[in-house]
Amino acid sequence: MSLPDFKLLRPRTVEAAIDHLARFGANVRVLAGGTDLIPSMRQKLFEPEYVLDLRRIADMRGIKPQPDGAVEIGALTTLRAIETSPYLRQYYPVLTEAAATVASPVLRNMGTLGGNICLDTRCLWYNQSLTWRKGCGFCIKKDGDLCHVAPGGTKCWAVFSGDTPPALLCLNAEIEISGPTGIRRVALHDFYTGLGDDYRKLQPGELVTRVFLPEASANYRGIYRKLRVRGSIDYPLAGVAVVMKNSNGHVSDARVGITAVNPAPMLVKGATELLTDKVMDDALAEAVGDLAARTAKPLTTSALTPEYRREMIRVFTKRAVLAAASN
Ligand SMILES: Cc1cc2nc3c(=O)[nH]c(=O)nc-3n(C[C@H](O)[C@H](O)[C@H](O)COP(=O)(O)OP(=O)(O)OC[C@H]3O[C@@H](n4cnc5c(N)ncnc54)[C@H](O)[C@@H]3O)c2cc1C
Ligand code: SF4
Repeated sequence: MSLPDFKLLRPRTVEAAIDHLARFGANVRVLAGGTDLIPSMRQKLFEPEYVLDLRRIADMRGIKPQPDGAVEIGALTTLRAIETSPYLRQYYPVLTEAAATVASPVLRNMGTLGGNICLDTRCLWYNQSLTWRKGCGFCIKKDGDLCHVAPGGTKCWAVFSGDTPPALLCLNAEIEISGPTGIRRVALHDFYTGLGDDYRKLQPGELVTRVFLPEASANYRGIYRKLRVRGSIDYPLAGVAVVMKNSNGHVSDARVGITAVNPAPMLVKGATELLTDKVMDDALAEAVGDLAARTAKPLTTSALTPEYRREMIRVFTKRAVLAAASN
């Protein structure tokens, strides 16, 4: 599949990038590592007149510990840099674990944290060539008005399939969004809409420029588990992140995040309350697994059946909380 023709814009500053976005509006797509955008352009999911390549913006790269113990990560920081950062591995291990499972080493050398957060949602009826989609009929997510996954409905259920966002949600991460009206900082859990088509709250002229991990989320044990068809290179079909602090044989705090089973990554509501002040055992881990499985709403958007993916959320959550309590 060939790439459609486009003009490349290569700004060196965030300001220049935002100027380009303001000038060319809906005709631009942002490129960070390009590992998701380029295959999508080959499938003619996006046919922009301009591609805004962010890679020359040095200011958007790097892992910068702050004096108050928090850490700032540029949106262009590669997943490989995150995976191999001794600082993140020591203080925020759930993020390094999740980053290390994305795709393959080659793709992690190119792919960025910002691109992983902004990743387009996926569906078996959408991530296909133009010829395939024409043959089967276009759908709500692009060019059509029906859903093959939930016929009769008016909503798109395409699934969010990034690995790092559930880990970032567990760490109460915030993101910096830069746009024509200035800079705003939002909690990551407010960034996703829960819709498969219009999945993130980002205006056309805006960029995600930085990610912040608070000091209060440092030093938690962190575990990430994912289900995929090919262990060496694949999107998650179900993913679970857990952070936990233990003291005197009790869980003193914990959060559980899931991905690849809903149109947005999300924290499992009630998991913190269920775990806090308890002694970890099989029954408790099982109860958290049940809660996570009830939060997951997998549909036929992905390879493997929804039933199996939901069951694996239960199993992985149980295993992950047991591991976080014991390591
Ligand atoms: C074979 C294969 C396997 C993969 N497996 C996985 C996997 O296991 N797990 C996983 O999470 N991903 C997987 N991916 C997807 C992709 O490699 C990663 O999600 C990667 O992190 C995307 O980052 P990127 O910088 O390459 O994003 P890009 O492709 O450059 O961009 C992705 C999207 O985000 C937008 N965007 C990027 N950066 C910004 C920004 N700073 N501000 C605003 N918008 C932005 C782009 O416009 C685009 O819509 C896979 C891809 C392939 C091809
Ligand atoms: S969930 Fe429905 S509308 Fe969304 S991409 Fe899949 S088939 Fe299309």
